[in-house]
Amino acid sequence: MTTAIVFVEHSDNAPRRASLECLGAATSLTDSVVAVLSGAGAEEAAKALGAHGAGRAICLPGSDPFSPDGLARDVAAVVGEQGGGIFLAAATSRGRDLSPRVAALLDSALFSDCTALVRAGESLRATRPWLAGKVIATLESSGPVFCATTRLNAFNAAETGGTIEVSTGNSGGDFRELVKELSAKSGGQLDVKEAPVVISGGRGMKDADGFKILDELAAAFGNAAVGASRAAVDAGWRSHAEQVGQTGKVVSPQLYIAVGISGAIQHLAGMKTSTTIVAINKDADAPIFKLADYGIVGDVFEVVPALTAAVATLRAEG
Ligand SMILES: Cc1cc2nc3c(=O)[nH]c(=O)nc-3n(C[C@H](O)[C@H](O)[C@H](O)COP(=O)(O)OP(=O)(O)OC[C@H]3O[C@@H](n4cnc5c(N)ncnc54)[C@H](O)[C@@H]3O)c2cc1C
Repeated sequence: MTTAIVFVEHSDNAPRRASLECLGAATSLTDSVVAVLSGAGAEEAAKALGAHGAGRAICLPGSDPFSPDGLARDVAAVVGEQGGGIFLAAATSRGRDLSPRVAALLDSALFSDCTALVRAGESLRATRPWLAGKVIATLESSGPVFCATTRLNAFNAAETGGTIEVSTGNSGGDFRELVKELSAKSGGQLDVKEAPVVISGGRGMKDADGFKILDELAAAFGNAAVGASRAAVDAGWRSHAEQVGQTGKVVSPQLYIAVGISGAIQHLAGMKTSTTIVAINKDADAPIFKLADYGIVGDVFEVVPALTAAVATLRAEG
C-alpha cells in the first residue's frame, strides 16, 4: 500500500486546521498515513493526529525558528526512509515554501494548491484551477513521488478516532538558510486563507473607516476574517495581506461575503471556489451577482449592520 507522508504544521502545541484538512486528503488516498512535524511543541501536537487519520508521527527537532532548506532535506529524508509514494502539505505560506524544495529533492513534480485528489486505478490524480480559475486542470505525475499541496478549506479533516505512534526523527543540520526571527501579525486575527468565513469589502466601503462595519460583522461570526478587493487595498484602506484575487490571496472558505465589490474577473479568480457566495451591492447589475449564490441589492451601510445584528442574535440563541 502506498504510504502518504503529510507535513503537519502546529501552533500552541496543536495541529493547524489546514494540516488536518491535508491529512483528510491523504486518508482518502491511502490507509497508511505518516505525519511529519518539526520544532518545539511537535510531540504534543502529534498526539492529536491519531484522531485525524495518521497512524504514525515523526517529530523532527528542526531549528529555531527554522531553516527552509534544512527542513526540506529532513522532510525529504523521511519520505525516502518511509518509502513514501505521496508527499502532501497544506498550501499555507510554510507549505508553499517547503513543498517545492521537497519535491525537487525527490526528483518529482509538485502540484500546488489542489482542490481535489483522487485515485484513478493505479495512478493518482490532482485537480487544480489554472489561469485564474478559467481552466480546471486534471494532472497525473510520472515522478517517483506524487507531491502536492492542498488548498485550504477544499478538503475535510478526517475524524477517524485512531491511535498514533509518535517517534523522534533526525535532523541533518548543515543549514544554508536560517530564519532568525518571525514576527506574529498584529491583532491575532484569522488569515483570509484559513478562515471558514471571509467577508471582503471593496470600493463600495467608501473609505478605511467604512470597513469597521465589516470588522463588526466578522466579530459577530466569531470565525471570520476580513478581506478586501484590490481597489480597497490600493486606496490604502486595508493591508495587502488581506487582498483577495489574482494578485492577492486565493481563498476557498465555506462562506464568502462580497460587500461593495463589483466582481471583476481578477477578484473572482481569488474566491470563486468558495462553497457559498453572498454579494451585497447597490447595483443590481453588478457582475458579482452572476457568481453569487445569494444576493442582496442594497446600500452596504444599511444591509451590513442589519446582518451583524441578525448573526449576533442567532449566535446568542445558540
Ligand atoms: C493585473 C491585474 C490584477 C488584479 N488583481 C486583483 C486582485 O487580486 N483582486 C482584486 O480585487 N482586483 C484585482 N484587480 C483589479 C480589478 O480589475 C478591479 O479593478 C477591482 O477588483 C475592483 O475593485 P472593487 O470591486 O472594490 O471596485 P469597483 O469595481 O469600483 O466596485 C465597487 C462596487 O461597489 C458598489 N457600491 C458602491 N457603493 C456602494 C454602497 N454604498 N452599497 C453597496 N454597494 C456599493 C458599486 O455598485 C460597485 O459594484 C486586478 C487588475 C489587474 C489589471
